[in-house]
Amino acid sequence: MPFDRTYIQQKFIDYCKLNTRSVDGTGEVPTTPGQTVLLHKIAKELTGLGLQDVSYSEQDAYVVGCIPANTAQAASPIGFVAHVDTADFNSEHVQPQVHEHYDGRDLVLGNGRILSAKEFPSLKKVIGQTLITASGDTLLGADDKAGIAGLLGMAKYLQENPSVKHGEIWLAFGPDEEIGRGAARFDVSRFPVEFAYTLDNGNPGDIAYETFNAASAHVEFKGTVVHPGEAYGLMVNAALMASEFIQGLPAGFTPENSKDYQGYIMVLNNQGNVDHAAIDLIVRSFDTAEFNHSKQLLLDLVGQLNQKYGTGRVTIDLEDQYHSPGDVIKQHPYVVNLVHHAYQALGLPIHHIPFRGGTDGDFITEKGIPTPNLFNGGANFHGPYEYATTEQMVLLSKTLVEIVRQHLLLNNQRDETPLSR
Ligand SMILES: [Zn+2]
Repeated sequence: MPFDRTYIQQKFIDYCKLNTRSVDGTGEVPTTPGQTVLLHKIAKELTGLGLQDVSYSEQDAYVVGCIPANTAQAASPIGFVAHVDTADFNSEHVQPQVHEHYDGRDLVLGNGRILSAKEFPSLKKVIGQTLITASGDTLLGADDKAGIAGLLGMAKYLQENPSVKHGEIWLAFGPDEEIGRGAARFDVSRFPVEFAYTLDNGNPGDIAYETFNAASAHVEFKGTVVHPGEAYGLMVNAALMASEFIQGLPAGFTPENSKDYQGYIMVLNNQGNVDHAAIDLIVRSFDTAEFNHSKQLLLDLVGQLNQKYGTGRVTIDLEDQYHSPGDVIKQHPYVVNLVHHAYQALGLPIHHIPFRGGTDGDFITEKGIPTPNLFNGGANFHGPYEYATTEQMVLLSKTLVEIVRQHLLLNNQRDETPLSR
């Protein structure tokens, strides 16, 4: 039986219609009830597709399920992960629009919005495909419902084609990715795999095993207010200390000068007066050494100012937010090389993508399961111009099947070629 294109498209559309926007700070798990609705729908779907041990946990709000091995041949358990929530943009009454045989023309979405091939050149790559968009007011939710549809498409194909042999496969569907909370809560004892892949953003052929390492810092400056006429030798100006701190940051090491594998330090906020000043910053780096160096630089600047103006004048609250899975995955190159083999078998161009943000895989890798990101085939995420195509979701299903097939073939003779960018 072929991949069920109608099924994949219909699941995608049904799930896009559900409002699953995550909202930070509600104190609930997941943060919004729409996500629970979708998670339960997925659990039901998985059971219908013959998965075993399908469960939902109220602690982490993840649905997991297992496609049992259908051969005695050994292959370690492999996992795939998608997230159910959508980004911080209007997601009420999403009305997916299906444009069959997209011909490359501008599409009027509604609400005065036009999806134009001139403005979004990536549309040229999907000419001839079935393009699915939102209707102008909302996002679509392809991030990451295209990943979910691709996973269900794989599960259905494997159910209908028992001749395709594979080892044990676990699927996980989680909440609150967009606010960076979901995977941090994931109890991975429920997900007994050797390694896994997220299917979040990206184009067919992409693989991202390095993301930013991320930290945030809040720096406080305490001044001494004295009447300016009598300030000689007494006044300490917090606003000027803050400005001295900023002058000490490496010149040009900023987001506007940073691309590909380059990192940065960004001043998010800088407010102050004579009495008190505060600066918020973020630190981003692909390389752990550069990341640590940047953080040390902030601490050193604080130390220097305290030495100059007196202990306790400047304090810093420096916190790691997430870590790139790169260092761990480089120790397990098979996890990436396996995907190379699958992509090559399907004729997909291999691209190593520096993922300039964080992914669920960052948290899952830290919990001991190396987890790079692949692709879901959608585009223009987090806004009204988001789109996906049925063909690319089917291609995702096909790619996942190829990965589990190749894993069975290669498991005993793993390609451990060291990774390069
Ligand atoms: Zn996403």
